[in-house]
Amino acid sequence: MADKAFKKVIVVGAGPSGLLLALLLAKHGISVEILEASDKLDDQPRAAHYGTPAIPEFRRAGILDEMRRRGLILSTMCWRQSSDFSYIAGWDAADVLSDVDGEDLRTHCFVLQDLDQLMLDEVTTKYGGVIRWKHKVVGLGQDETKAWAEVETDEGKKKVEGDYIVGCDGANSAVRKALFGNEFPGFTWDAQIVATNTYYDFEGKFGFHDANFIIHPEHFFMAARITQDGMYRVTYGETPGLTHEQYLERQPWKFETMLPGHPKPDEYKIVNFSPYKMHQRCAEKFTVGRVMLCADAAHLCNPWGGLGITGGFVDVGGLYDCLAGIWDGKADPSILEIYSEKRIEKWKTVIDPISQENFRRVRDKDPATRFERDEFMQLLKKGEADRSFLKDLLLSFMEVRYDFTQHYKDKEDGEKVKAD
Ligand SMILES: Cc1cc2nc3c(=O)[nH]c(=O)nc-3n(C[C@H](O)[C@H](O)[C@H](O)COP(=O)(O)OP(=O)(O)OC[C@H]3O[C@@H](n4cnc5c(N)ncnc54)[C@H](O)[C@@H]3O)c2cc1C
Repeated sequence: MADKAFKKVIVVGAGPSGLLLALLLAKHGISVEILEASDKLDDQPRAAHYGTPAIPEFRRAGILDEMRRRGLILSTMCWRQSSDFSYIAGWDAADVLSDVDGEDLRTHCFVLQDLDQLMLDEVTTKYGGVIRWKHKVVGLGQDETKAWAEVETDEGKKKVEGDYIVGCDGANSAVRKALFGNEFPGFTWDAQIVATNTYYDFEGKFGFHDANFIIHPEHFFMAARITQDGMYRVTYGETPGLTHEQYLERQPWKFETMLPGHPKPDEYKIVNFSPYKMHQRCAEKFTVGRVMLCADAAHLCNPWGGLGITGGFVDVGGLYDCLAGIWDGKADPSILEIYSEKRIEKWKTVIDPISQENFRRVRDKDPATRFERDEFMQLLKKGEADRSFLKDLLLSFMEVRYDFTQHYKDKEDGEKVKAD
């Protein structure tokens, strides 16, 4: 290790982005220390579906086979009318994405807490990564040779030093606040959603696809499979401004009103229930000297369409290529400025517009005419008959990725090699 360009990376936050980054770095032989404010992994119902652009990162981290063994692969997805749940447009990716140059690039599903646990086990037991629970970062500092986090622990305040610090500490990131205060440009939707994990036989009784978006201005919802034993993520729109108790009280009425079959509470089983606000925000820089931001700490989008942590995982893969390149002497530290510039560009040109459109689509005021006004849905219709067109359309989401290895010093001849 003596000839390496630096010694250690501090990752703030043991959420999905922090754990994937720690795993990739540790697997590459880079010393990594995770600082996590909580005493355990988060178990709220959040991401479960990871889109095509994130799949190569799971492969590189060495966890894809285990995710497939314990999770699900989603092939079919569609939008439906709320009046009779009839199909409007969608896709079946089984024949177009299941073998793209030998890789299955369909959306993968594995509930976040299980994915987090898998990554934590891998990073700590296989690759020597260190996690410090109950280490809450409250401040930062850096000079020309190192960066440090000021941390609150049960034993009092500490300073933890490394060569680089990466803020993977989510939407309320203390790392981002240490860099930019409360500035997080963008907006919060004047809308409310509730995410549940629910057992209800959408497929057997109603012929639903793997993932379904039901369009309605008020009672819009998503029902997507998340486990092999028939649990669905049911996320639905609610009236903003109510209390948690009011949302809980209204839930049986919402399900009876909006779900197919108009079920009473004894006809389904809810195992998780969480109201959420939604935001579209992006930090002004993802790199300031020796401090970087990834995923929700860097940018937020609404969850309709699963671009949240999918985009976050793509950040992580890009930052890993930059840090591994510096570690191996293949890249200059200035590559971290390119990380900031390119990831912000991808958020602005791909993630933000697509996720905004996904939310507008599902809560359209006139579901009956949405198809006539929706260019994307019309392209999907064309893809039903023209499979190579559908393949290109679905693979166009890979545009959110960016290959940072093209900025390695030895790649000036144009040859591109990825870090292992
Ligand atoms: C209902 C819902 C459904 C979603 N579904 C999807 C989906 O299907 N697909 C998708 O791509 N995305 C989805 N998302 C978005 C996705 O869940 C988030 O993008 C993802 O959880 C963000 O991961 P993260 O690692 O950036 O942050 P987080 O998951 O928020 O993790 C941050 C970690 O940092 C820790 N931390 C916080 N502050 C500090 C501190 N000061 N010091 C130390 N540690 C700290 C926290 O305790 C936590 O462990 C969904 C979101 C919601 C709300």
